[in-house]
Amino acid sequence: MSLAAVAALLVGLLWRAGKHPAPPSEWVGLQESDAPLAMPASGEVDERFAFLSAWQRAQIPRAGRFDPPMGTDHGGLTYNAQAFWDMNDGRGGRHLGDDLNGIGGMDTDLGDPVRATADGLVVYAADPAPGWGNIVILAHRAADGRLLQSMYAHLDRIDVVPGALIGRGMRLGAVGTAHGSYPAHLHFEMRASDELQIGGGYALQPLGRLDPSATVESLRNAADDDRSPSLLACLLAPKAGPVSGAAPKAAE
Ligand SMILES: [Zn+2]
Repeated sequence: MSLAAVAALLVGLLWRAGKHPAPPSEWVGLQESDAPLAMPASGEVDERFAFLSAWQRAQIPRAGRFDPPMGTDHGGLTYNAQAFWDMNDGRGGRHLGDDLNGIGGMDTDLGDPVRATADGLVVYAADPAPGWGNIVILAHRAADGRLLQSMYAHLDRIDVVPGALIGRGMRLGAVGTAHGSYPAHLHFEMRASDELQIGGGYALQPLGRLDPSATVESLRNAADDDRSPSLLACLLAPKAGPVSGAAPKAAE
């Protein structure tokens, strides 16, 4: 190959590299060779490329029971500081989740455990933007076959990794302030969705968001005093069990 041809090739390659910059975030996932099917390890999700692969969808566990994600097993010791669909004029839209706060108010719940509302697959665990702070999104297969997602935002800490299975009641992070943006609380959403998107906390349309408290209540599928842990949680953490309650008891 002549020198001119090599130079032309180099110029061509450089031009092409300039036209196709590297993706803005590192891509990790269960099928790393298929970047469009994988999940970003950090940063904003590019919704043009990020969706669950068939392989990931197949791994979404059946969630036969849902529990509140904060407070006691029955949601006690918390209150809903800003309910789903409340109009927030300052933000120019309706609230797409519930803001769960410890009954002590302000930062008294900072660092309290945030737990998986149901057996699920971690499809996102990262810090997409300053207003959000750390976010975890779990995918669930409801008993009626619907694919649902639960979203936990403003976390002080994330304790799970994308691609991991998590059992109901297992700790996925801690209540936080989104890096000091708000008094500590958990922004909790339930979504009817099988795609991967972060979106905003307020909108004038529901955008697939469901009333979180009502959804958890309707899918709870357990008596009020039933504190039995999820079988998946027992399998994943056989020694510690779920953080929400006592370790599984022997038959009584
Ligand atoms: Zn909120």
